[in-house]
Amino acid sequence: MKILVTNDDGIFSPGIKALARAMSELGEVYVVAPDVEQSAVGHGITVRRPLRFKHTAAAGLDPIPAYRVDGTPADCVVLGVHLLGKPDLVVSGINLGVNLGLDLTHSGTVAGAIEGTSIGVPSIAFSLDIGSRAEMDFEPGAAEAVRIARWVTEHGLPDKVFLNVNFPVNPPKGVRITELSTHHYEDSVVERVDPNGVPYYWIAGKPTGSEDPGTDLWAVRQGYTSITPISLDLAAHDFMPVLRQAFEGS
Ligand code: MN
Repeated sequence: MKILVTNDDGIFSPGIKALARAMSELGEVYVVAPDVEQSAVGHGITVRRPLRFKHTAAAGLDPIPAYRVDGTPADCVVLGVHLLGKPDLVVSGINLGVNLGLDLTHSGTVAGAIEGTSIGVPSIAFSLDIGSRAEMDFEPGAAEAVRIARWVTEHGLPDKVFLNVNFPVNPPKGVRITELSTHHYEDSVVERVDPNGVPYYWIAGKPTGSEDPGTDLWAVRQGYTSITPISLDLAAHDFMPVLRQAFEGS
């Protein structure tokens, strides 16, 4: 079994190292990841400039083959599949920080799983709540990731569905299957002036969202691993009858 591992924190992140090493237990792993951090780039792909695909021994992943790409996580999956063949599983992460609720559309980590799903490969995104910790322990999450990935490879996933997994700060008490919360970053714009006297703007965000029971944010804060199945069918089916009546005529 071939497993493609990507992320959005870049190929030198400790999170991808832990995930790639753990996945070796399940099959033949190869890492294709951005050369620099690509957090919050979402599902963007690079179409207006060429991309490079370079073997990277310095990633410290030996004997796992590791390649860096000067692009986004979605670019990494596209090039990885083109150059190394279609894998049986795509995993993305382990991200340094949660990807919950409304964060999902910004997340490069999640985009790696979305790209895998788009090409018909079962895919999972993994993120770790790092809280205010200086020391990050990816090992409990990596062990749980193996358990989840094994189940997925044995049972498959529905068409156009991937798993979004978030690990709590401390070793998980168990697993909860969750709904998406309202977790997001409240955007604030900081305006400053550059050395030439020209203003520039920096979008900063403060995490916020309610911990409603049964949601991903609630589960992670309660110390559980959160698994949310996500469908790429974004159409609001429930609302269609209203629009049909309004616009399609009687
Ligand atoms: Mn990230």
